Amino acid sequence: MVGGHQAAKEFLARNQVPYCHLDVRSEQAQRLLATARLSDDADGLPVVLLPDGAVLVRPSLPELAERVGLSTSAGSPFYDLVVVGGGPAGLGAAVYGASEGLRTLLVERAATGGQAGQSSRIENYLGFPNGLSGAELAQRARDQATRFDVEILTTPEVTGIAPHGDGRVVSFADGSEVTSHAVVLATGVSYTRLPAEGVDAFAGRGVYYGAAAHEAVNCKGQDVYVVGAANSAGQAALFFAQHAARVVMLVRGSDLRRSMSEYLVARIEQEPRIEVRTCTEVAGGSGDEHLERLVLRSTTAASTEVVDACWLFVFIGASPRTDWLGDGFARDDHGFLLTGPELLGPDGRPPAGWPLERDPYHLESSVPGVFVAGDVRAASVKRVASAVGEGAMAVTLVHRYLDPS
Ligand SMILES: Cc1cc2nc3c(=O)[nH]c(=O)nc-3n(C[C@H](O)[C@H](O)[C@H](O)COP(=O)(O)OP(=O)(O)OC[C@H]3O[C@@H](n4cnc5c(N)ncnc54)[C@H](O)[C@@H]3O)c2cc1C
Repeated sequence: MVGGHQAAKEFLARNQVPYCHLDVRSEQAQRLLATARLSDDADGLPVVLLPDGAVLVRPSLPELAERVGLSTSAGSPFYDLVVVGGGPAGLGAAVYGASEGLRTLLVERAATGGQAGQSSRIENYLGFPNGLSGAELAQRARDQATRFDVEILTTPEVTGIAPHGDGRVVSFADGSEVTSHAVVLATGVSYTRLPAEGVDAFAGRGVYYGAAAHEAVNCKGQDVYVVGAANSAGQAALFFAQHAARVVMLVRGSDLRRSMSEYLVARIEQEPRIEVRTCTEVAGGSGDEHLERLVLRSTTAASTEVVDACWLFVFIGASPRTDWLGDGFARDDHGFLLTGPELLGPDGRPPAGWPLERDPYHLESSVPGVFVAGDVRAASVKRVASAVGEGAMAVTLVHRYLDPS
């Protein structure tokens, strides 16, 4: 199942599929359900009505993806290059790989664009002096990849990578697999959950990790709370200030300037609808069907306060989820993948088990032929431009790996 209407909405929005969401209690929804001879029973929701007249009751995400024209299963058992993750690094690798003649498969479990796709405005990406939204960047990159014949799968999750002779076997959560000459891992990072009592129970019902721009219209004229003090939180606050009555930024530290770019701080200070509450953290959340209240705690005094709050957007850092890769892939203490020079020990030698005479190439993991690009790589820069650049560079190294002469 899609896990409720929120998952379906988020999936469609992030994949730039136009949709209209109707509350089941609305007259229009009731009319449509009656026409389709369906009840409004919660067990049968969400119902997705497609332009061709098809009716999907509680579809799975792969089913929804297929029906809106997104491919979900590989067309071939073998590729030159499989790219895992469709954020900027993965899209970069796929575009460069395919444009340089590699038969390329890109696998994205949620939506192309990755974290960048959730950015309301990217202002520091070269060539876009007026900035552009993450969604637009993702759509442009996806179009470019498609133009170069990258095969893009949406919704399959890669759950394993194992060397098999000269090939690298890439396995999916549904048990299927493909083999590739080389792999680029570009799985990025996932948001850290907010450690506050009761809050996670409202994920998708007032509590969102990331900007969830598709919710902006629902926040119109209301108070929005944004947790975090890095650039992503600043961008989100400015974005929601265009819709909400008031945006309250909850910042644990005493000064935004410690963690946010100066240009964003300056814009936040000039925005009368944004209030910055420093030395404040979220201690808990409560409500009924939807988030209704937050408990805010001072980080400097032993005091708490309960505020009415229906909308909370959380940006408190992220971590790579790389445990599925197994022990063959060397990682740092936080799970980021080690590559190239980072893999060499104090004696300058590759790690135990490295099977080749040569040292690992710059972006190569501890498994030869599997390269790493973007945020998931240890010591990476965590920017759109560097992710795209590493994707391109990984492809150059793939060529060197495939033809070392
Ligand atoms: C809200 C926000 C605003 C930002 N704004 C800016 C900005 O203005 N400028 C800037 O330079 N940077 C910005 N950043 C940072 C930038 O977006 C990231 O550095 C960049 O997206 C990293 O790209 P990536 O491809 O390495 O990883 P990600 O963007 O994290 O993409 C990784 C992708 O891999 C997929 N994936 C993960 N595991 C699997 C799996 N097992 N199988 C299949 N798919 C998988 C994920 O679903 C995801 O789509 C922002 C980040 C956020 C969150």
